[in-house]
Amino acid sequence: MNAATSGAPTLSLVVPMYNEEETVSTFYRRAVAALEQIAVPFEIVVVDDGSTDGTFERLRALAEGDSRVKVVRFSRNFGHQTAVTAGLHYAKGAAVAVIDGDLQDPPEFVPRLFEKWREGFEVVYAVRRSRKESVLKRAAYRLFYRLLRRLSYVDIPLDSGDFAIMDRRVVDELNKMPERNRFVRGIRAWVGFRQTGIEYDREPRFAGESKYPLGKLVKLAYDGLVSYSFVPLRMVTHLGFVISGSAFALILYLLTLRLVYGERLVTGWTSTVVVVLFLGGIQLLSLGILGEYVGRIFDEVKRRPLYVVRETVGFDRAEELSKTAAAELEIAPEVALRR
Ligand code: UDP
Ligand code: MG
Repeated sequence: MNAATSGAPTLSLVVPMYNEEETVSTFYRRAVAALEQIAVPFEIVVVDDGSTDGTFERLRALAEGDSRVKVVRFSRNFGHQTAVTAGLHYAKGAAVAVIDGDLQDPPEFVPRLFEKWREGFEVVYAVRRSRKESVLKRAAYRLFYRLLRRLSYVDIPLDSGDFAIMDRRVVDELNKMPERNRFVRGIRAWVGFRQTGIEYDREPRFAGESKYPLGKLVKLAYDGLVSYSFVPLRMVTHLGFVISGSAFALILYLLTLRLVYGERLVTGWTSTVVVVLFLGGIQLLSLGILGEYVGRIFDEVKRRPLYVVRETVGFDRAEELSKTAAAELEIAPEVALRR
């Protein structure tokens, strides 16, 4: 590794923040204290995901006083996964750690992730041994991760979020991926290499409220399921077979009654209505599942950029220019630099 000689940091810490003004200074203090323990050059890349409170002003003040702090400010709220993605684009380290900016993931745990990376693992993800959230939310998370594991065609580890450290090679692979509806822990698992997990206790939020209202969580869950599984589509096909089979059997039965036994059925309002409602429901459900996939296809083919940056603080001028060139040409920044 020649990160130290080339002036690039060895470790980058990527932090998405959305309206976390009360947490910024404590986060900074704890993160710097933890990273200084490792005694390698580091940078903290904070992505301000369109905060509407004082988050950005506080971050800018920190970045102006400490050249290791860098800030990418979005033009609006693009969402947590997109903020993480942008952070990975801007991070320069030989190892890149991703951490939540609300202190639910303790920065003091990063040195342990870093140790494992040094041992030669390309991905070391933190596995939540415990969570301090409401019973309902915990149950929902448990169910989702187990469902995802059953359904998906990549091996996404149980109870691990985005809190992880990744080798430069993995980050480069992630950065090449153009997909828009991102589920970072999914693509991270998809990439492969040597991966391992270590357990930690997830803490309660330092301040403020969760920035993941139910709607955003459901979207994240759908992204995870739809992007890494064809099972929902296959279920629709299976259902189609079962229902067509039953309908065919029923047709035979009714025809036999009519033709062989000469029965004229005029009663049967209930059965008719039940069948119609049942089929209507199944059809709507199937359309919905198809829609989830089609909607995402639509989103992908538009090929819009993933996010819009309003301003950055603390990056080199050369880095900045290469980013702009990369964004315009839709190529990786390293390539842009070489041109
Ligand atoms: N976050 C973000 N954009 C969003 C929502 C959240 O950058 O649209 C950040 C947030 O500031 C925090 C992290 O992502 O640092 C995790 O979000 P949150 O704590 O709200 O999620 P939860 O822990 O409740 O799942
Ligand atoms: Mg949180």
